[in-house]
Amino acid sequence: MSRPLWPSWPPPPTEEQRRALLRVLDSGRWGATGGTVTEEFATAFARRCGAAHGVCTVNGTVALFLALRALGAGPGDEVVVPAYTFVASATAVVLAGAVPVAADVTEDTLHLDPAAVRAVIGPRTRAVMAVHLGGAPADVDALRSLGLPVVEDAAQAHGAARHGRPAGSLGDVACFSFQSGKAMTAGEGGIVVTGDRALYERVWSLHNVGRSPGGGWYDHPGLGWNLRMTEFQAALLGPQLDRLDDWIDRRARAADALAGALDGVPGLDLVPAPPGTTRHTWHLAMLRYDPGAFGGRPKAEFLAAMAAEGVPLESGYRSLSRVPYVGSAAPCPVAEAAEEGVVWVRQPMLMAGEAAMAYVADAARAVRRRRVTR
Ligand SMILES: *Cc1c(COP(=O)(O)O)cnc(C)c1O
Repeated sequence: MSRPLWPSWPPPPTEEQRRALLRVLDSGRWGATGGTVTEEFATAFARRCGAAHGVCTVNGTVALFLALRALGAGPGDEVVVPAYTFVASATAVVLAGAVPVAADVTEDTLHLDPAAVRAVIGPRTRAVMAVHLGGAPADVDALRSLGLPVVEDAAQAHGAARHGRPAGSLGDVACFSFQSGKAMTAGEGGIVVTGDRALYERVWSLHNVGRSPGGGWYDHPGLGWNLRMTEFQAALLGPQLDRLDDWIDRRARAADALAGALDGVPGLDLVPAPPGTTRHTWHLAMLRYDPGAFGGRPKAEFLAAMAAEGVPLESGYRSLSRVPYVGSAAPCPVAEAAEEGVVWVRQPMLMAGEAAMAYVADAARAVRRRRVTR
């Protein structure tokens, strides 16, 4: 196969999205306090997650902030976050006034390790953030058994499931992102979903300047901010709910093909999903990279060589244990090792399909064969 043309993300807009956008434009009701599109989308999305309630927000970070505040996390509290995740998992905790404490991830799946969480839990720990890394749900049951509220950071996991239960209904409250790189997107946006009515009302009030549902416009019984989504965003998002499963299936077929093709490439292996994953949404296919199998090339050189072959892989996260405002009660050797030993194939590349994944493996084989010149 010749060099694949990697698809851009998001996919081209549909007629349905154009019509939905224009309906909002022409209605003159652009904000969620005037229209009904956001409310309808919030309910539809929450149902898709097996949760009764949803509150749309300006982005995923503030969705996490709202969930944490609604759980009562604030100054003086700590929230445990995995050391290998997007930085917003931790900055949302800081935004809420609490201290993020990094716990290490498991060697095999790179997901939050319940044993590492137990080791950093102290008297100030208020909640645990379970990140569904790359689109595969974390072991929320094991994390819940530690006795603390669990916030699902499902920013990468729209449509994921664990033991048949959808992401969004696994913890006490869950947050998704609709930022431009995510599986469903409106450019920016986020949502909090929960099955807990009281928690929902707190989130709703916090995101709507302290108002209460059914209360007056200038009645602010609680503290809150304007963190509302616009009707334009919800108009773009609604139609994507119908296409979500097809997109996931497409990426899952590509990920299967990639795993198969990498069988013939020593030193490059797919990182497995946590056992119990029944729906992996493949926001990322994470690959373990062994420099020893590639002539001792450090990861940066491997990435450059792959890019020269037309395969733009990603380097991935730095460990949060190295971030100054993140507390680390214990070392995080697994997350730190992942900085050198893990590379990513991102969602838009997986959308290119199965033949393109064979090309990725061929490119890696070619890089492997080539002598290192220094
Ligand atoms: C994208 C992302 C977020 C933040 O979402 P934004 O909408 O960009 O604020 C949080 N956590 C994880 C794991 C993410 O991937």
